[in-house]
Amino acid sequence: MAAKEEWSISDFEIGKFIGEGKFGKVYLAREKQSGYVVALKVIFKAKLEKYRSHAHLRREIEIQHGLNHPNVLRLFAWFHDETRVFLVLEYAARGELYKLLKSLHHFSEKRAATYVSSLAGALAYCHEKHVIHRDIKPENLLLDIEGRLKIADFGWAVQSNAKRHTMCGTIDYLAPEMVEKKEHDHAVDNWTLGILCYEFLYGVPPFEAEDEYGTFRRIMKVDLKFPSSPAVSVEAKDLICKLLVKDSSKRLSLQKILKHPWIVTHADPSGSCCD
Ligand code: AMP
Repeated sequence: MAAKEEWSISDFEIGKFIGEGKFGKVYLAREKQSGYVVALKVIFKAKLEKYRSHAHLRREIEIQHGLNHPNVLRLFAWFHDETRVFLVLEYAARGELYKLLKSLHHFSEKRAATYVSSLAGALAYCHEKHVIHRDIKPENLLLDIEGRLKIADFGWAVQSNAKRHTMCGTIDYLAPEMVEKKEHDHAVDNWTLGILCYEFLYGVPPFEAEDEYGTFRRIMKVDLKFPSSPAVSVEAKDLICKLLVKDSSKRLSLQKILKHPWIVTHADPSGSCCD
């Protein structure tokens, strides 16, 4: 899609409805001049006002617009009219990774390692740009037509060199330092990668409990248990153990994840995975 100063809704042919989020609807769309297919996210300003989320959206736009990596969903452009804000997004034809995980129950080691490797590469790129995502979870991961993973939804991300204090994210994926509302930095994303790696292989996140407090307690104790079924390799468990470390400075770095034997052996270098 060509760069253009001023976009408007008349530049697009609107196609099928893809889905609905908290703030608005997502449609398949085609940019008329280039024929380029995109996902158009339509956000109602009234909803932004209701949830006082202007700052959130502005941050999401600023951050995502500045990122260009094969595993980060591109935000090509944005514009607005009287009542709506429009985000012109890369179209992820295979939709949410979460839905795939639910239908397959758990992923093969090859698929899981490919996604973990894609995520580690994308997060290394984000961290280099001083962007911490802080809300990586299966619902925020999309798949393109080739099955390549795309990180989406930068609503909770921050761009900062400094350590942060705010509590955010979804409880199952929260690092201990966030549960305790302590200072946190980019290492929260490394913890989340450990949670996701576990969830990809076992189908459920590791610290599930009856209620939120139970999950908090299990996170704080790093109460990590590996069920006997499905069978998971020792190397995969080793990687998970090296990421789910309470002391954030001792978690395996993203570069080391990419060189971990489990990733090297199982991940598909093309990033597009079909078993
Ligand atoms: P959201 O508002 O981001 O929660 O998105 C609402 C629905 O649209 C969800 O089911 C998403 O999976 C889907 N969706 C959002 N963005 C895209 C995209 N770029 N490509 C394909 N589907 C998307």
